[in-house]
Amino acid sequence: MSVTPIFSDRVMARLDELGRISDVAEHLTRTTYTPAHKQANNLVGGWMREAGLHVHQDGIGNLIGRLPAVDNGAPWLMLGSHLDTVRNAGKYDGMLGVIAAIACVEEIRKQGLSLPFGIELVGFTNEEGTRFGTAMTGSRAIAGTFEPAMLAAKDRDGISYEQAMREFGLDPADIASCKWPADIAGRKLAAFMELHIEQGPVLEANNLALGVVTAISGARRYRVEFKGLAGHAGTVPMGSRRDALLAAAEAALYIERRCTGTPTLVGTVGQMEALPGAVNVIPGLARFSIDIRAGVDAVRDLAADDVLAEVQAIAKRRNVEATVTPLYNSAATPCDPRLMDAVEAAIKAQNVPGMHLPSGAGHDAMTIADLCPVGMIFMRCTRGISHNPLEAVLPQDVELATAALYHFITHFDPAALAA
Ligand SMILES: [Zn+2]
Repeated sequence: MSVTPIFSDRVMARLDELGRISDVAEHLTRTTYTPAHKQANNLVGGWMREAGLHVHQDGIGNLIGRLPAVDNGAPWLMLGSHLDTVRNAGKYDGMLGVIAAIACVEEIRKQGLSLPFGIELVGFTNEEGTRFGTAMTGSRAIAGTFEPAMLAAKDRDGISYEQAMREFGLDPADIASCKWPADIAGRKLAAFMELHIEQGPVLEANNLALGVVTAISGARRYRVEFKGLAGHAGTVPMGSRRDALLAAAEAALYIERRCTGTPTLVGTVGQMEALPGAVNVIPGLARFSIDIRAGVDAVRDLAADDVLAEVQAIAKRRNVEATVTPLYNSAATPCDPRLMDAVEAAIKAQNVPGMHLPSGAGHDAMTIADLCPVGMIFMRCTRGISHNPLEAVLPQDVELATAALYHFITHFDPAALAA
């Protein structure tokens, strides 16, 4: 790129600085309601203030920077992503979307632009659910879908979500006050836009820096148990065995076959165990998990139906008993087509090609979709690696991504979205 970067130096430097704030010394792990959470909110809050945003921490620990429109009745555009991390994390997952948005606001102020909408820039807390296992509580509080039962969740040390919140200086009674329109009655939310690294290899494989997210895939998860008959590995002939593990292995291979070749469809067997689990015993019991996702619910459901039918067929053929327990079912969250068009135009304006792709991972945008139309911009990350300290990005991609986000914001027309 021959143009002098205007965003990337600062954004990269800030991501480095933020990436050093951690719960532990050895690597980056920043979970909710820890001193590092407070420190990160202070650091990023300071950058928000410098950019001209009015900053506060809401009742659940989200960091919010606000740039009201001149017109009091104007609608709002929500931007941002999460500031918490997984254990032993990379420094771009989530943080990029917050830091890049701050850089955009800085540039808007520098250019003296007056936008016909207010900006609500959110650094969400606890998107990952690393500490308590319950994810997206920050965005759920804003969407009004926080479930009080989540307060009872405990961390590894037996500290409950509620107790941790109180020690952090927050009162669970204030969670209700986080729900949009929060402290300004009658505020209208026009849209939410989240910039995020792809966390997968698709953009890189296509030699592209940026992509338009079409949907956040929904998932169906099951636990399957095959019950056969344990027996002596030396005495039972191959033809008369009821080996539960072989049935499970056959099902796993079927899932791979069924989910290969259909765009956006992915299927995974992530857990499998064989019992009794001895070297000289035919497995009498096998348990495994199934996770099936796609950008379109109908595609995922068809595959899930086929997989479950095959599980039964395998059980019949191998004379074992199958028990299937559904664990989880979430619908796909489609991105708004008008926001997708706007993101596509923002990418084109950078003179680079882009592509459409779904997000196989969950994001705060799927929670905020309960409030307003949502859109996402994906940025390439090296080798698709994420949730890993090896997570890496190219400065020129950060420049393009921030410039595209800036273009999106400065061309955003809430009226067109309302029509
Ligand atoms: Zn993330």
